[in-house]
Amino acid sequence: MLTIQKKWTPSLIFLETTRACEYTCLHCRAVSQPEPSPDELTIDELKSTVDEIAALDGEVPEIVLTGGNLLLKPGIRELISHISEKKLKFSLSPAASILADQEFINFAKEAGLNSISLSLDFPTNEGAGNLRDPKHSIELVRNISRMSISAGIKVQINTTVYDGNVNQLPSILKIIKDMGVSTWEVFFLIRTGRAVGLSDLSPSEYMQVNSWLSDLINYGMNVRTVEGPVFRVVKAMRSISPEILNGPLYDHLSTETARLLGLKKTVRAAIISPQPALNRFRGTLFIGSVGNVYPSGLLTYLAGNVRTTKLKDIISEHVDLFDSRHSEIISGKCGDCGFLQVCGGSRARSYTYQGDPFASDPACLFHDPRSR
Ligand code: SF4
Repeated sequence: MLTIQKKWTPSLIFLETTRACEYTCLHCRAVSQPEPSPDELTIDELKSTVDEIAALDGEVPEIVLTGGNLLLKPGIRELISHISEKKLKFSLSPAASILADQEFINFAKEAGLNSISLSLDFPTNEGAGNLRDPKHSIELVRNISRMSISAGIKVQINTTVYDGNVNQLPSILKIIKDMGVSTWEVFFLIRTGRAVGLSDLSPSEYMQVNSWLSDLINYGMNVRTVEGPVFRVVKAMRSISPEILNGPLYDHLSTETARLLGLKKTVRAAIISPQPALNRFRGTLFIGSVGNVYPSGLLTYLAGNVRTTKLKDIISEHVDLFDSRHSEIISGKCGDCGFLQVCGGSRARSYTYQGDPFASDPACLFHDPRSR
């Protein structure tokens, strides 16, 4: 019998500072717009929210400032300085634009910036027009990455994977490695916001991509996934249902990776149990630009609004939503799965496809033979 935890603090809290952005990327969750909206949280409201985060029980979460392009938020430096004064760990996720210049990076470093994440979805600028806005060039990503690394800031590259770029993942990996970056966060497309018209991977492709990603530790790449929770258990799954992790896409990705990295043969990750570190990740919480609180930016299941309710009260009233892996609320084969507390399935995908954030993840092909 699982126990329902009524106290919970996330590991990461995303603060969407603005929806303004120079770009109009096809998959934009935020449905970016040219200017900040008049109803967005003000800098004073954002600072008060930061104070609430600092006062949460338990281990204080890391704050990730995001957008839109956070650099278009009037007063963003005042907010960063406030977070710094509170001595909170924070990261930035700006759009790769010319606003992220050396002077800003130096300022953020001085304020204690932990890491910066930049998006790269195609290995060529031509391809970038299919998903990222074409003005979002690889050269900008390279420059910002180089300036950040020189300043001693950790860099992470984010890639949204979907039907249109899945075959090019090894080429993107090669670019990331050539930049000297060793952390790659792979977002599996959720058809929300501006991405509703894009094509998802099939379930078989989803499983094979996760399987390939789990091999990349052998190539020195630290991979994390968003809406790909199977990644956390895929190595253990290989000893139970290896057939659902193999196929032509896995073979293509593995062969291409070895070729591009100049290796003689592909290397498959060892079969192991889920790592304890993955069990320690408590989950995320997302505060949108007008104060709405969701489990994540891709799961827009409304829990409350920081303008009207204290953050700690929103959390305590919706622990089952935010920490569904450790509640009894998930149904179907995810609810019966032995990997529930480590994986849990994508709640955003079940909500998007089935209208129920607690249903089974429709992309997972695993049926646990150990289930009740
Ligand atoms: S059935 Fe659900 S919990 Fe189990 S591995 Fe698949 S997605 Fe994860």
